[in-house]
This record gives sequence, C-alpha cells and structure tokens, in this order.
Amino acid sequence: MDGNDPPTIRLVQMQALGPFSWRWPEDVEHFDRGWSADAIVDGLEVRLRHGIGRREVYGRSRLHSVTWVEGQPTVEGVEADDFGASEALVSLIKAGKRHIRPGEPLPGGYGVFNVVVLAEAVAGPYSPRSLAVKLRLDDIEGWTRHALLRAKAWGRLGSSTRSRVQLAPLIAGGPAPATAATADAVGSRRVIAASLLELGASLSSTDHGPALDFTPNPEANELLQTDAFAFLIAVICDQGIVAERAWLVPFLLRARLGHLDPAQFAISEDDVRKAVQTPPMLHRYVEKVPRWLVQAAQLVVRRYGGDASRIWSGSPSADELRRRLDEFPGIGQKKAAMAVEILERDMGVPVSRLDRSDVAYDVHLRRVFLRTRLADRDEQDHMIQVARGLNPDRPGALDLPAWYVGRTWCHAGLPACSVCPLTNVCPKDIERAARVVSG
Ligand code: SF4
Repeated sequence: MDGNDPPTIRLVQMQALGPFSWRWPEDVEHFDRGWSADAIVDGLEVRLRHGIGRREVYGRSRLHSVTWVEGQPTVEGVEADDFGASEALVSLIKAGKRHIRPGEPLPGGYGVFNVVVLAEAVAGPYSPRSLAVKLRLDDIEGWTRHALLRAKAWGRLGSSTRSRVQLAPLIAGGPAPATAATADAVGSRRVIAASLLELGASLSSTDHGPALDFTPNPEANELLQTDAFAFLIAVICDQGIVAERAWLVPFLLRARLGHLDPAQFAISEDDVRKAVQTPPMLHRYVEKVPRWLVQAAQLVVRRYGGDASRIWSGSPSADELRRRLDEFPGIGQKKAAMAVEILERDMGVPVSRLDRSDVAYDVHLRRVFLRTRLADRDEQDHMIQVARGLNPDRPGALDLPAWYVGRTWCHAGLPACSVCPLTNVCPKDIERAARVVSG
C-alpha cells in the first residue's frame, strides 16, 4: 500500500462511557460521556476514546469533543451554530499540522465526509476559514474515521507493539452489548425485544435514570428532579431540538425570569416569550413554546392548585397519567408516554398498571422498530400494539432502549451496526426506515 493511501478501517468494538476527566497541560477538562472503541486499521488494532463535554470555544460555551487515539488527543470537535437542527460538531481537517483552505485538495479518505468551512459553521472570534468535517454528535464511525485519518497522517499508527498510554480511570461505564444470539435467532422479534429489554435494564441501573442526566449541568438536572413544573416545562420543550437543550430550558428560564412559579407564568405571557426569545434563544419554536408554557401554567393553576406534582399524585395508572399529561398543550402521545416512563423509572413516582404503559412514537424508536423488523409499518398505533404484544407486562419498558439505540447507533444516515448492541440479532433492514426523518 502507498503511504498516501487512506487506511482500511474497521470498527470492531465499542463501549459507552460515563463521565471522566482529562488533564491538559493548562487545566483539567471534564467530559460528561463518551465511548471507547477498538478498530482495526490496516491490520493493526488501535484503541480510541471519545469524550463529549462543554467549554468556552470560539466566543461562547459550546459542546466540545476530544477523540484520543492510542491515548493521545488527536481531533477535537466544536458545536456547530446550527446544532439545534443538525446535532453536529465540526472538526478541522489537517495536512500534517497545517489547516486546509477552501479550494485546496482534501487529504485521502475525506471524500466521504460532509466538509464545511469552519468559520461558516462556527461564527466566533478567531474561527478560521479552514476546511472541517461536520459530523453528528453520535456518529461514532465518522469520529473514529476522522481521528484515525489524522493519527495516520501524524504517523501515530506505525506500531502495534507501542505501549499504550494509560487513560484516566472511568467513573462510570455504559451499557454492554446485548447477549450474543445464535444465527437462527437473528430477526426473531422475541429475541430482539429481549435484547432491547436487557439494554434498557442496564441503562436504568444507574443511580438515577439516564433521562435525568440529559443535560451536562448538574444543577439543571437537580432542578428537574425537585421541581415538578420544571419537569413539565422540559417535557413540553422536548421537540424539534436535541434532548440536552430541551431539558436545560427550565434551568435557563428560571435564571432569566428569576422564578419557575406557575401562578406567575400564567399571567406573564410577554415575560415568558421574551425570556424564550432573548438571544441565545432557548428554543427554535419561539412562538409556540412560550404560548404552550403559559397555557400549561394556567392549567396547573386551574386544575392542580398551582402544584404540578399533583398531575401525577395518587398513584395513577399508566394510561390515566398519560391522559392527564396529554391534556397539556404541546404534549401529545410521544411526550406523554415518554414522561410516564421517566416519572416512574427515574423519579420514583408511584404509577400503577404499568401493563397500560406505552412506547413513545418517536423518530428514533420508529427507525429502530422498522430496521429490526419489530414493526411492519411506520404507524403510531401499529408500533404501540407491537410493543404491547412483545412486553405485555410493561410495553413502555421498550421505549428507552429503542430510543437509545436509535440515538446512539441506528442513525438516520449510516447506522453504526458493527458496534450496536443489537448487531447479533438485528436483520438490519436499513432501507425500511429511509423515510423516517422527523418526529
Ligand atoms: S444500528 Fe444496525 S444493528 Fe443496530 S438497530 Fe440499527 S440496523 Fe439494527
């Protein structure tokens, strides 16, 4: 092989990671989550780690990722300005240590990437007019490939016997791949459902469930657990933007308004609208969301005496709680079913008759249900019935793992099947979900 040829890269193993830290020469950076992976590059085994955190970059706080190859920081990613829509980070392409300018040829192996000009994707001081890849936050294969191309260009992949740099110890690990299945189990709905439930159990066994770790801000997470109206606001906002942003809205709203009092919300539509619309805007739906929040506050005051926690008081059945949530503007089947699961599973709210719980008809779940052939068609009622048939004791238990698989591995574009926990059991019917593009 010519030294300039792009390497052959195969991702063979991946493990989700919990929080960890990395000591730079000047400071310590904390990463909320990430993944570790093993890849085979031109026949050599290479170990990677990827961390996602947040720091001041190009003039404001942005999501920031680092990918290590053989223990050495190799590429960094920075939240794109259109992250709310694209869920993407951008990362410089380099030839040696040099940036590539628009019009210059790309190094080998970058032809498959979405390439942008960094200054156009990330507006801010010192943002360079240099070429960069634009990758979804959860595109594991893309980040792996980008980091390995850089590592190869920097001559860091020359030896399989080099001793590995010891990475910082993990504080928490992520889900393990589902149990391996026999060949004739591939495509079996029961086996796929069992694998999803196994993954769901591993996700739920953290101190508090994954939904309450949505935001990278511990104070915001604490607010969601202790203030019922904050939780309701987050559920209403969980639409059209990534979950991390939606679940941060109550915390940011409280900082802007000085309170999260439903009684004041109910009579302060102009203040709520201004708080949502002031740059940086808290939500892309700058008209709908403030209106929904004020109407929700009015319903909380009128029906629940101003105490949102009374929405789920009295150990309601899963379907009754879903009905109560569904009455709020901006909450439909998807958000109501999701909220029932989060309240019971992650917040310890007593909910009875979990056999009447349901999956949320969410874009990620739809994609996974179709590609695994759990569902035959993309219809809300059909998918709900499929889940009820597969796990009648608690259909809603399939919701979190299906959502998580869709968000982490089963991307709308190229799914990361080789590292997906369902890879041993999934028929990988990728085309079936080709038209599932929005929630
Ligand atoms: S990523 Fe691949 S293996 Fe995983 S659910 Fe999607 S199609 Fe199946």
